[in-house]
Amino acid sequence: MLEIKNLHVKLEEEDKQILKGVDLTVEAGKVHAIMGPNGSGKSTLSYVLSGREGYEVTDGSATLLGEDILDLEPEERAAAGMFLAFQYPVEIPGVGNMTFLRSAVNAQRKARGEEEMSSSDFLKEIRAKAKELQIDADMLKRPVNVGFSGGEKKRNEILQMAMLAPKLCILDETDSGLDVDAMKLVSEGVNALRSPDRGFLVITHYQRLLDHIKPDVVHIMSDGKIVKTGGPELALEVENNGYAEFQETA
Ligand code: ADP
Ligand code: MG
Ligand code: MG
Repeated sequence: MLEIKNLHVKLEEEDKQILKGVDLTVEAGKVHAIMGPNGSGKSTLSYVLSGREGYEVTDGSATLLGEDILDLEPEERAAAGMFLAFQYPVEIPGVGNMTFLRSAVNAQRKARGEEEMSSSDFLKEIRAKAKELQIDADMLKRPVNVGFSGGEKKRNEILQMAMLAPKLCILDETDSGLDVDAMKLVSEGVNALRSPDRGFLVITHYQRLLDHIKPDVVHIMSDGKIVKTGGPELALEVENNGYAEFQETA
């Protein structure tokens, strides 16, 4: 599904190499986690995959379902089936959540050359999804993220993910200071959306998120590279011993 090969990335403004040869394959139906110490390049990887400006790919490649994504605009990446959980955390006063979601869904369909979804189909779908995810109907009418609690923002993120039905979901939860309740919401959302044709890349500094999500594969990133790959037990190893052993060998 997602195939990253020898990815090298530097900052555009400075001569600073951040990713130094990342190799990573995420298969359909699997949840991969990336853990690693602060500053190892985890967020940079998610930014580069999302198409954020300010980064220059100096070597390597990244494909989604065989399509080279690094040259695509962010909207084109979304149309190709990629979802980044931090893509829409912004507050948009005056724009109802439902209106916003509808335009996001239709923008994605348009980029795919598909017809817009009718209002009634959209309503039916969003109500069903909201119910499934135990999201209050009231939240659909409020302006996007305005005055939402941390937990409500997380729920909303999961709802966006459910409505856009991505092939690959990337969640960067490293610096968001998730409390236990928010962490549960994220994990329940991910677990509810797991499916055989969908892959997940969950980026986190903390092992505790993985108590709930149960990744299939865990990668440790250190100094711009994946330095170790293993099963869920690798996350427990980090919880017990910290990152020191991986940094020494990096
Ligand atoms: P992580 O998410 O693993 O904590 P980041 O990807 O945020 O790591 O950062 C990796 C390294 O790149 C850090 O040393 C960070 O300071 C540096 N870095 C990332 N983006 C920028 C930027 N825009 N300007 C300067 N330094 C940056
Ligand atoms: Mg960081
Ligand atoms: Mg980070």
